[in-house]
Order: sequence, then structure tokens, then C-alpha cells
Amino acid sequence: MTDIRVESSYAPRAGAQHLLEVKDLFVEFHTRDGVARVINGVSYHLDPGETLAVLGESGSGKSVTAQAIMGILDMPPAKIPSGQILYKGEDLLAMPEEKRRQVRGKEIAMIFQDALSALNPVFPVGWQISETLRTRAGMSKKDATRRAIELMDQVKIPAAKARVKDYPHQFSGGMRQRVMIAMALAMDPKVLIADEPTTALDVTVQAQIMDLLADLRRDLNMGLILITHDLGVVADVADRIAVMYAGRIIEHADVHSLYKSPAHPYTQGLLDSIPRLDSKGTELATIKGLPPNLLRPPTGCAFHPRCPYVKSVCTTSTPRSLDLGHGRTSACHFAKEMLDGTLR
Ligand code: SF4
Repeated sequence: MTDIRVESSYAPRAGAQHLLEVKDLFVEFHTRDGVARVINGVSYHLDPGETLAVLGESGSGKSVTAQAIMGILDMPPAKIPSGQILYKGEDLLAMPEEKRRQVRGKEIAMIFQDALSALNPVFPVGWQISETLRTRAGMSKKDATRRAIELMDQVKIPAAKARVKDYPHQFSGGMRQRVMIAMALAMDPKVLIADEPTTALDVTVQAQIMDLLADLRRDLNMGLILITHDLGVVADVADRIAVMYAGRIIEHADVHSLYKSPAHPYTQGLLDSIPRLDSKGTELATIKGLPPNLLRPPTGCAFHPRCPYVKSVCTTSTPRSLDLGHGRTSACHFAKEMLDGTLR
């Protein structure tokens, strides 16, 4: 169970250029059954040293947005009809592929959920960590191995020097995830995207990996995007949270405000479904129904078939993202009523 503590050092920055900024991004998947509009006008930003959690059920578009940032979407079937992804003010989508490749891994790195399948079983972990250093940074084998050991130390793999020649299967799940993080850090990225980095791990190891990511973000002053379906996991480490549903950000807020008073019924449903230490013995709430099929999304608000507060306007009119002040937004017709507790 998760005992939720919410602490945030987040203070919005005014006017400055962001380290990374996704602007009004649209992504479609062209399939034999039709066009699925999987990202519908997503915008978010990230600054050095802060953590943005991108939260949502599977199929909400959180990983697709990350893949678009990394430039690893399969195109086709994916297509990006419009939008910008600005890194230090330069649009990654308009960059020649060669330049983009320089940014990928070097400036922006990503770690994935399943470390076992992401690592090559036939090469020692040290070799895999040092490969990027040899091929992209031109380091000698000896220097790259020395740096790999340093990176293994940095991600707190015990006895790194003795284990640098071990194979992935000789590590536990948590240690393999640390190896993945070490690989991602090899080129000193300014942005680290972690896609469900703890889903395959047990609760204790989950907490250790989240602590490690938080420490690295602080020590290296990286921007961290944490993609997750689990609000409980990010409470302690995120500065801001963007909640995604059906390819849109339906709520964005600093972590403290979002936990204290959600401004969207979907966020409220996610919060209510987190197991808490003080709710032992009571039945856990769930959000009824399933995420929408984006080949045939619902009319109006995409959440309306599942929303406990649905009104007739919700079935016909798509809510715009409402500015609630202090960087806070909600895409619900009744966001203000949600916030003041009068929505019934
Ligand atoms: Fe629910 Fe309507 Fe708000 Fe959508 S717009 S979340 S259906 S109240």
C-alpha cells in the first residue's frame, strides 16, 4: 500500500525558454480499420532539475508522446500532422534526421519498463553500458569500461567493478533497471524520459528506483519525465503532473494542488483508486468502464461514458482546456464546480 506524502519544490518560471516544450502535438495511427487520433493537441514543458509526471491508463497517449519526442515512432503507421517539439528552442520535428540522432540519447535519453527485454542477454552489462561511449563518444575500450563502472556506481549497483562483466540474467529485476538507467546516463543527457520504469518491480524495489531517479535528477540537474499509470508512485518525486486521457491532457497542475483538490473527475477517480494506509479494510474505488477506442471515440467529452457527473452538454460538446491560474488547467466543462466542491 502507498502512504501518500506530497512535497513539492515547484515554482512556475515566467517567460523563460523551456528546456523541452511539446506544443499542440497531434499524432495519428493509420490502420486498416481507419485513422486513430491518438494524440490530440498535447502541450507540456520541462525545465532543468524538475520532474513532470505524465499519468494515464494504457492507450491514453503518454508513451506515444514520449516516442514522438525521441523520434522513435514507426512512421507509417504513425503520422504527425501538426505540432512542435522544441528542445532548447529548436523544433525536433523539423530537424534533419542526422541532427536529430545527435539529440537522441545524447541530449534526451529514455528508459523503458522491461529492462530484461531491453538488454541484450549475450553481452555483459558493462559492455552494453560502454557501447554508446565507444561508438558515439569515441572513447577507447579501457576508458569506456572505466566510465561504465563509474556509471554503475552512480546508480548504486553494489560491487560495480566486480560485476561489470556479469550478464543481465545474473542481476535482479531492480538491478537490471539500474543498468538501464546507467546506459541512459552514459552521454550525460539533459532530459531523461522514464516510461513506467518500476511497473515490473515489487513495491520495495519500486521505491528504491524512484528515489534513485529523484537523486539523479537533483544531482545532475536533469529534466525528468516520468510516465506512469500509478498516481501513488509519483507523489513523492513529481513537481507537476499532466493527466492524459484519450490523447489529451485533461488536467495539469503542480503535484500539491492536484492531490489536494483534483479539477477533473478522471483525476479524482485515479486518486480514489490509490490504496492508502488509512483505508485498510474498505473497498477500493475503481473507475467504471474502459478507456475509449480511438478509432471511434465518444462524442463530446471522451470521458463522458465513464464520468459520474456526466450532463447532457458533455455528450455533445468537447470541453476546452480551462485555465485555472498558476499553471493549472482542466478540460472539464465543470472544472470550477469540481474545485469548489459543488459538482453533483
Ligand atoms: Fe465529466 Fe462532463 Fe467533465 Fe467530461 S465534461 S469530465 S463528462 S463532467
